[in-house]
Amino acid sequence: MATPSGCDVATLTQALQSGDPDQQMQALDACSAVLTDPTLWYWLIGLTLFCALVGALIGKYKHAVVRDMLLGLALGPIGWGISLLLPKVVPKPPCRACGKPVEAGDKYCRHCGAALGTASNRLNP
Ligand SMILES: [Zn+2]
Repeated sequence: MATPSGCDVATLTQALQSGDPDQQMQALDACSAVLTDPTLWYWLIGLTLFCALVGALIGKYKHAVVRDMLLGLALGPIGWGISLLLPKVVPKPPCRACGKPVEAGDKYCRHCGAALGTASNRLNP
Protein backbone atom coordinates (compact mmCIF):
# COMPACT_ATOMS: atom_id res chain seq x y z
CA MET A 1 0.00 0.00 0.00
CA ALA A 2 1.25 3.48 -0.85
CA THR A 3 0.56 5.35 2.36
CA PRO A 4 2.57 8.49 3.00
CA SER A 5 2.61 8.47 6.79
CA GLY A 6 0.47 5.40 7.49
CA CYS A 7 -3.07 4.99 8.73
CA ASP A 8 -3.25 3.16 12.04
CA VAL A 9 -4.94 3.66 15.37
CA ALA A 10 -1.79 4.95 17.07
CA THR A 11 -1.11 7.59 14.40
CA LEU A 12 -4.76 8.71 14.36
CA THR A 13 -4.98 8.90 18.16
CA GLN A 14 -1.76 10.86 18.37
CA ALA A 15 -2.92 13.29 15.67
CA LEU A 16 -6.33 13.82 17.25
CA GLN A 17 -4.86 14.38 20.72
CA SER A 18 -2.19 16.75 19.47
CA GLY A 19 -4.72 19.50 18.77
CA ASP A 20 -2.70 20.48 15.71
CA PRO A 21 -5.10 20.86 12.73
CA ASP A 22 -2.32 20.27 10.19
CA GLN A 23 -1.30 17.01 11.81
CA GLN A 24 -4.95 15.94 12.02
CA MET A 25 -5.55 16.70 8.34
CA GLN A 26 -2.39 14.79 7.41
CA ALA A 27 -3.59 11.74 9.34
CA LEU A 28 -7.06 11.92 7.76
CA ASP A 29 -5.54 12.32 4.29
CA ALA A 30 -3.38 9.26 4.89
CA CYS A 31 -6.45 7.21 5.87
CA SER A 32 -8.46 8.55 2.92
CA ALA A 33 -5.64 7.48 0.60
CA VAL A 34 -5.79 3.95 2.02
CA LEU A 35 -9.59 3.71 1.69
CA THR A 36 -9.69 5.10 -1.85
CA ASP A 37 -6.81 2.95 -3.12
CA PRO A 38 -8.17 1.16 -6.24
CA THR A 39 -6.11 -1.94 -5.46
CA LEU A 40 -8.06 -2.42 -2.23
CA TRP A 41 -11.37 -2.10 -4.08
CA TYR A 42 -10.33 -4.51 -6.85
CA TRP A 43 -9.52 -7.08 -4.20
CA LEU A 44 -12.76 -6.49 -2.28
CA ILE A 45 -14.94 -6.66 -5.39
CA GLY A 46 -13.02 -9.69 -6.68
CA LEU A 47 -13.37 -11.54 -3.38
CA THR A 48 -17.08 -10.67 -3.20
CA LEU A 49 -17.69 -11.98 -6.72
CA PHE A 50 -15.65 -15.11 -5.94
CA CYS A 51 -17.79 -15.74 -2.84
CA ALA A 52 -20.95 -15.29 -4.91
CA LEU A 53 -19.61 -17.67 -7.59
CA VAL A 54 -18.80 -20.40 -5.06
CA GLY A 55 -22.27 -19.87 -3.53
CA ALA A 56 -23.85 -20.23 -6.98
CA LEU A 57 -21.94 -23.49 -7.55
CA ILE A 58 -23.22 -24.85 -4.23
CA GLY A 59 -26.68 -23.62 -5.24
CA LYS A 60 -26.47 -25.48 -8.54
CA TYR A 61 -26.01 -28.69 -6.61
CA LYS A 62 -28.82 -27.74 -4.19
CA HIS A 63 -31.21 -26.53 -6.96
CA ALA A 64 -31.26 -23.03 -5.39
CA VAL A 65 -28.71 -21.01 -7.38
CA VAL A 66 -30.06 -17.52 -6.57
CA ARG A 67 -30.58 -18.26 -2.87
CA ASP A 68 -27.09 -19.68 -2.38
CA MET A 69 -25.43 -17.07 -4.62
CA LEU A 70 -26.93 -14.31 -2.46
CA LEU A 71 -25.85 -16.11 0.71
CA GLY A 72 -22.28 -16.36 -0.63
CA LEU A 73 -22.38 -12.74 -1.79
CA ALA A 74 -23.57 -11.38 1.55
CA LEU A 75 -21.84 -13.71 4.02
CA GLY A 76 -18.90 -15.26 2.13
CA PRO A 77 -17.67 -18.55 3.59
CA ILE A 78 -20.33 -18.35 6.34
CA GLY A 79 -22.96 -18.23 3.58
CA TRP A 80 -21.36 -21.28 1.94
CA GLY A 81 -21.70 -23.12 5.23
CA ILE A 82 -25.35 -22.13 5.57
CA SER A 83 -25.98 -23.21 1.95
CA LEU A 84 -24.41 -26.59 2.62
CA LEU A 85 -26.49 -27.05 5.78
CA LEU A 86 -29.79 -26.10 4.12
CA PRO A 87 -31.76 -28.99 2.63
CA LYS A 88 -31.63 -29.69 -1.09
CA VAL A 89 -34.54 -28.04 -2.88
CA VAL A 90 -36.79 -30.54 -4.65
CA PRO A 91 -37.39 -29.28 -8.20
CA LYS A 92 -41.06 -28.69 -9.03
CA PRO A 93 -42.56 -30.84 -11.79
CA PRO A 94 -43.30 -28.94 -15.01
CA CYS A 95 -46.78 -28.46 -16.47
CA ARG A 96 -47.43 -30.63 -19.55
CA ALA A 97 -49.14 -27.79 -21.40
CA CYS A 98 -46.80 -24.85 -20.80
CA GLY A 99 -43.71 -26.42 -19.22
CA LYS A 100 -43.63 -24.01 -16.27
CA PRO A 101 -43.06 -25.43 -12.77
CA VAL A 102 -46.15 -26.31 -10.74
CA GLU A 103 -46.66 -27.40 -7.13
CA ALA A 104 -46.92 -31.15 -6.57
CA GLY A 105 -50.45 -30.97 -5.12
CA ASP A 106 -51.98 -28.55 -7.64
CA LYS A 107 -54.96 -29.70 -9.71
CA TYR A 108 -54.62 -26.89 -12.27
CA CYS A 109 -51.56 -25.09 -13.62
CA ARG A 110 -51.29 -21.64 -12.10
CA HIS A 111 -49.63 -20.33 -15.26
CA CYS A 112 -51.87 -21.59 -18.07
CA GLY A 113 -54.83 -23.12 -16.19
CA ALA A 114 -54.43 -26.60 -17.72
CA ALA A 115 -55.80 -29.48 -15.65
CA LEU A 116 -52.89 -31.38 -14.09
CA GLY A 117 -54.80 -34.35 -12.70
CA THR A 118 -52.46 -37.27 -12.12
CA ALA A 119 -48.70 -37.38 -12.08
CA SER A 120 -48.74 -39.02 -15.53
CA ASN A 121 -50.14 -35.73 -16.85
CA ARG A 122 -46.84 -34.04 -16.14
CA LEU A 123 -43.56 -34.09 -17.96
CA ASN A 124 -40.71 -35.96 -16.43
CA PRO A 125 -37.85 -33.62 -15.47
ZN1 LIG B 1 -49.25 -24.73 -17.52
